[in-house]
Formats: sequence, C-alpha cells, structure tokens
Amino acid sequence: MAGSASVMDAISAKPGHDAPVLFTHANGESPSMGAPKAVARIQSFLRERPTETPCLVVDLETVRERYCQLTAALPKARVYYAVKANPAAEVVRELAAAGSCFDVASVAEIELCLAAGANPRDLCYGNTIKKPADVAKAHALGVRLYTTDSETDLEALSEHAPGSSVFCRIAAVHDGAVYSFGAKFGCAPELAESLLLRAGTLGLAAAGVSFHSGSQQLDPHAWRSGIAHAAQIAARLAAKGVRLPMLNIGGGLPGSYTHAAPPLADYADAISAAVREHFGAVGLHEPLLVLEPGRYLVADAGLLRSEVVLVSRKSPADEHRWVYVDAGRYNGLTETEGECVAYVLASPEHAGPAAAEDTAPVYLAGPTCDGDDVLYQRTVYRLPSALRVGDHLDFLSTGAYTASYASIAFNGFSPLKTLCI
Ligand SMILES: *Cc1c(COP(=O)(O)O)cnc(C)c1O
Repeated sequence: MAGSASVMDAISAKPGHDAPVLFTHANGESPSMGAPKAVARIQSFLRERPTETPCLVVDLETVRERYCQLTAALPKARVYYAVKANPAAEVVRELAAAGSCFDVASVAEIELCLAAGANPRDLCYGNTIKKPADVAKAHALGVRLYTTDSETDLEALSEHAPGSSVFCRIAAVHDGAVYSFGAKFGCAPELAESLLLRAGTLGLAAAGVSFHSGSQQLDPHAWRSGIAHAAQIAARLAAKGVRLPMLNIGGGLPGSYTHAAPPLADYADAISAAVREHFGAVGLHEPLLVLEPGRYLVADAGLLRSEVVLVSRKSPADEHRWVYVDAGRYNGLTETEGECVAYVLASPEHAGPAAAEDTAPVYLAGPTCDGDDVLYQRTVYRLPSALRVGDHLDFLSTGAYTASYASIAFNGFSPLKTLCI
C-alpha cells in the first residue's frame, strides 16, 4: 500500500518470527498491539539494521492504513492531520499523498506541509494563539483557513489574512480524556456566536464552530456536547442570515496503550448520530465535518526502541528492581508525565514463551540526572527476571507525541531520532 516499502517487502518476505511477548503493569489489561503488522515490520527492520538507541521507527504503511480506516468510517468528513503529533517529513508526505489536509500551528509547520507536497488551501492554521506577523506569513503562503477564539486574533486575521475563512473554537468539556486541554483554548458559545457574526463584517467568512474534546479520549460520546453547542450556534446565526458550512470536531481519537480504547466504529457512530440529531433538531443541513486527528493516525505506527542502561536494587529486601533505559521524559517519553500514558512494552531479547512466565516487578526510569525523569513508579510493570544491561526495551504505539516532544539535548542526551520505513 505505501509507496516506500521496497526494503520492507524484502524483509517481511523472510520466514516470520513469533509474535513478541508483551509486558504490562499490574493494573494493565491483557496487553495487545494496536498494529501487530507495524510491530513485526519494525522489529524485523531493526534486526536487519541495528540502529543506535533510542530511536523511533515509524511504519508508513500503518499511517496510511489508519488514514484509510478513518475516511472509510466517516466518509463525509475531511481529515486534517494535526502535524504536531508527528512532524516527520515522511509522515506528512505519506498523508499528503493519501489525500489528507493538515492542521498546523506555526509557520514552520506550514512550510513543512508545503515542502511535503500539500496544497496551502488544504491547511488549517488551527492555533488560536498566533503573532500577527505569522498570520501575514501564512496568508502569503496561501493559507486561507484559520481558527480563532478571541476578538484580538479575529481582528489580526481580518487585517493580515483578508478574505479567509475562520472557525471559532468553543471551550469543550473533556471528561473521559487522558489529556485535557484545560481552559487555555476556546471561548464561551455566546462569544463564538458574536465573533462568527463579526467575521463577515470584517471581510472574513465564518466557516463554523470548532472544539476539541481532549486527547486520547476514551469516551466515544464525548463529542456530543460540543456538537450540540455547535448546532445551537449554527441555528442562531442562520436566523441572522449567516450559514456555517463546516463543523470542526478536533482530534482526540485514541492510540492503543495498556488501557484499551473502544473501536473506531463506536466513535464514528456516536459522532455521526450526534451531528444528525443536533443539526436535525434545529432544522439545518449537516455541515461538512472536519476532523483533526493527530494521535489516531500515527500512534500505533511507531515503536520506540531503548536500551537498558542499568538494572539495580535500592535494598536487598526490595523485590522491585529499578530499570533505567536510555529513553526518558526528555527524549521521547514525555507522555509518561503523571504516568498518564502507559505503553505496552516488549523486549527483542526476551521474546520466547519463557520470558512471559518469569517476570518480576520493576520501576522504570530514564537516563538523565533529573529526579522527574521517571517513567513508571506508581504503575509497576512486570519485566523478565533475566532482563540485563544492554538488552533492549521496545515501547509500542509511540508514533504520536514522542519525537515531537523531545528536548534539544537535555543533559547531553540527543533528541529522539525518527526513522520511517
Ligand atoms: C493537538 C490538536 C489536535 C490533535 O489531537 P489528538 O488528540 O492528537 O487527535 C487537533 N486539533 C488541535 C487544534 C490540536 O491542538
């Protein structure tokens, strides 16, 4: 399916290795892989080409598969990939070739998408916080769709991006999300209504309402209240003669971690039903649905390989070992902060059935001299008793919010390398 899989075709044609043994924590569900084929392809790639760790390997075929699954589940929606989830040029190129549009947050992300072959008319500058100078640059580059949530930003759009279309973001509830966007974004529905009304008088076109239901959203019904607000706003504006052609329901679709998320079909059904009901109830046609998935498109396509730097015990009596790996909070595993995301783990050196039987509890930590660089301490994983220095530990479903969050070189540890296959 993917265009760049020639090396991989050769590798995966070889006799297969067994499925890896997966490791989780005490409260984890029986772990499963979000994309078993991606894991198999990446692990065989790393067998053929040992790569310095830590490294993130992204399976582009899985990215494309996810895009196709999403457009099949919501065929009337338009997908704007949220570039911040994984800005690797190959990922953006793959999605541009598949027909995706892009949600961008800065001039650099716009330039990245354009270099990857995207049309500027297929970009949405979705960050509500932007310098006027950046709005002017975006407009000069051809971007004509923006998201706002304030009077001041709307005026900047009017001045520096005349003739563009604007979404107005409302603050949404985030129950059920692993990551909430808090109070930073979005305005009250009444303000959104007046901003969208004012857009027309400022030489802009009102595109519609947008909202974000929080990232790694585990409740497929979480979009309901945002959609209900959007329909109310659309109805009030329709009464004033302003039609809102689109509805932007943001991102939030999940990746596969140790706590399983519902299947995509549940989200697609709940979202479609809510749009039908709420827009039907106010007597309006359904707007064009805009999705801004980040995590869903790339998380399961990635595998982060780390190496065990040290295994130690703090006292002879403690049954817990501390396992330190060369990937941590500052070079890729940022989302372990607060132990919010618990990744499924595997070790290529401990892949036989015996490895699954002889495990013991561990605390997991990164390599830097920072006390916060601990991955899991409340979330106690069980790893093979035979795990030793120099073995590798694979973090599954790490294609989203890993390399893009890595620091420049905190404590001298390099930012996370990304390889795309
Ligand atoms: C980050 C972001 C997204 C993507 O969110 P996911 O939870 O990764 O799907 C979408 N839209 C906006 C405006 C964002 O900031």
